Amino acid sequence: MTATNPSENAASHTNFNQSVQYLQGVGPKRAEILGRIGIRTIRDVLCYFPRDYKDLTRKQKISEAKIGADITIQGKIIGRETRMSRNRKNILELLVSDESGTIAATWFNQPFLANKFRVGDVIFLHGKVTEYRYLQLLNPEYEIIHDGNAAAQDGSIAPLYPLTEQISQLYLRKIMREAVTLFAGHVEEILPDELLKKNGLIPIRDAIKNIHFPENFDLLKKAKDRLVYDELFILEIAMALRKRGIKDESGVSFKVGKNVDSHIRKLIPFTLTRAQERVIQEIAEDMRSERPMNRLLQGDVGSGKTVVAIYAILAAIANGYQTAFMAPTEILADQHFRTLHKYLQHSQVRNCLLTGSTNAGNKKDILQKIMDGQIDLLVGTHALIEGTVQFKKLGLVVIDEQHRFGVIQRMKLKEKGTSPDVLIMTATPIPRTLSLTLFGDLDVSVIDEMPPGRPPVKTLWIPKGKEDDTYKFILEEIAKGRQAFIVYPLVEESEVLDLKSAVAEAKRLQTGVFSALKVGLLHGQMKSTEKDQVMMDFKEKRYDVLVSTVIIEVGIDVPNATVMVVEHAERFGLSQLHQLRGRIGRGSEQSYCLLFGTAKTPESLERLKIMTKTSDGFKIAEMDFQLRGPGEFFGTRQHGLPELKISNLARDFTILKQARDDAFHIVSEDPRLANAAHQKIKQKTLETFRDRLELIDVG
Ligand code: ADP
Ligand code: MG
Repeated sequence: MTATNPSENAASHTNFNQSVQYLQGVGPKRAEILGRIGIRTIRDVLCYFPRDYKDLTRKQKISEAKIGADITIQGKIIGRETRMSRNRKNILELLVSDESGTIAATWFNQPFLANKFRVGDVIFLHGKVTEYRYLQLLNPEYEIIHDGNAAAQDGSIAPLYPLTEQISQLYLRKIMREAVTLFAGHVEEILPDELLKKNGLIPIRDAIKNIHFPENFDLLKKAKDRLVYDELFILEIAMALRKRGIKDESGVSFKVGKNVDSHIRKLIPFTLTRAQERVIQEIAEDMRSERPMNRLLQGDVGSGKTVVAIYAILAAIANGYQTAFMAPTEILADQHFRTLHKYLQHSQVRNCLLTGSTNAGNKKDILQKIMDGQIDLLVGTHALIEGTVQFKKLGLVVIDEQHRFGVIQRMKLKEKGTSPDVLIMTATPIPRTLSLTLFGDLDVSVIDEMPPGRPPVKTLWIPKGKEDDTYKFILEEIAKGRQAFIVYPLVEESEVLDLKSAVAEAKRLQTGVFSALKVGLLHGQMKSTEKDQVMMDFKEKRYDVLVSTVIIEVGIDVPNATVMVVEHAERFGLSQLHQLRGRIGRGSEQSYCLLFGTAKTPESLERLKIMTKTSDGFKIAEMDFQLRGPGEFFGTRQHGLPELKISNLARDFTILKQARDDAFHIVSEDPRLANAAHQKIKQKTLETFRDRLELIDVG
């Protein structure tokens, strides 16, 4: 495994699983350090891609620094200082000069850097120019130039790798150089020739060489394109296999004809929008098919998803099947139940609510009825499907707001002996790039039109000092019988501080400007039963104003609320702001969203401006995604997307689409990847998704 002399054995240059210790200069100690950044094998080395490149062909003068633009400079360190910021972050600042001027370079919280730099060292820097008292580069890429080394020997475009303690740029570059020289020429091509030709992709060996040590910028771009393509292609192969797996199951083939259709329409008290009609057709088509439906229904808050769900539910029940409707929280399950119940009151559908707070006696009775087939529609939380509920004949599951109702839950259903149709509804607009990857195995329907007669929410950004006018305005609205939300951000560093501010604010308003009103308070530290109680009280108008830190998770309908104030709006992400704003404008009255806050960065300024300009959820989602990237889009990494090493979904949309088309085409022609030409693709997919093999079945 750990041969020490590279010349010993040329055959070993095809073994990419061997330890990185094979390379010269990597002993057990270095290997351990490299292990911490995920480099263990030769394959890991080759796939440890540069974050950026040092481009000495384009070296600039410090005097050319422009705020907001990237710059690449080389200069001498003339000053060095470390200090603590007020919130106890470690700051390292260098002053660097060339013949044209001086600039600062600042790093936060990387104390291990401090000992690297000495006054008098010549240093290379690359990064974005910002201004804070004076011009500076914030967390720039750096490299200390020893005795005129690196530049000459690395040519004009040198890789800059992400570093860690005790590993220098020069060292990484040295082992990369060796790994590339010995191994890159043996990397196997997984893509068939036609695919390379059709997409103008370069061979994988050239791509690996040029991503690390580009011959020129053109080849660097081609290397990136090729590697991005590979990564997304394998992801989409997995998606295609998953989708095919679902489609392979045989489900219920419902009869949704004229008769059923006209019966259902009698229960709908308004004319459907064109978007609703279109989506209903898509769903009906899926339901008629023998293959199980697996469809994501996207539509902004208030776009009328519920009635579409009703259509599907009634169609299933008309065919003699049971349906389950699941919501993320009890209060939402309760709200959905009431809404559904209203639609169904003139029908013969037997419906029922089952949640954690259903008492034991009732629960037993309900479970029995479900098993006997005496209940047609069961509403509850997501736990419904996992728990003890046994349906007699489950035909359709509708799920509200769960992004990743994945194959796992589907498999649980299957274990229960059913392959029901599944309709997932979400009010969180999802950028197209994400729906093609994250939800690549789902079919997607979009309601992109609002029901008539609902004026869009007016959104204003309130300048500092004008807050009192806003309070006066709220008083006027409340005098007309309306209600208002006042929302506080959740500050991650300090939930305690956060809580204080909302509590203090509620008190300040109650005793001050709103002394004649009833002010309610809702915050994250309350028990969920308390939260539910406050929300119900607000809904039933026992409060005029609700001060809250946690409204987001409470998608509750209060059509009478026409004003929302968002405090510190600059701290919220775009999608979050849009989601919040969806809590108002649910009635026929004009609603107002008033943003308090000071934009502290160009991005927060951009966000506030976008909010005042558009109410289109998809536009907002797309911009949010561009501003923040996919990882943060959903707030956590719990979104089931594999880690992407080189692709950037916000940027690589064109390649993604191409890779997806190609992958789906291959799987449609060769559903089990049995063809000899597809063996390497199959192997690579299984390798990449090895932790989630249950998701893919290639026999
Ligand atoms: P969503 O679930 O997408 O947020 P809902 O289904 O709750 O939206 O619909 C919001 C409101 O609009 C409800 O009061 C509903 O009755 C009403 N509505 C839905 N579709 C129409 C329509 N085509 N015409 C008039 N009102 C509609
Ligand atoms: Mg709804």
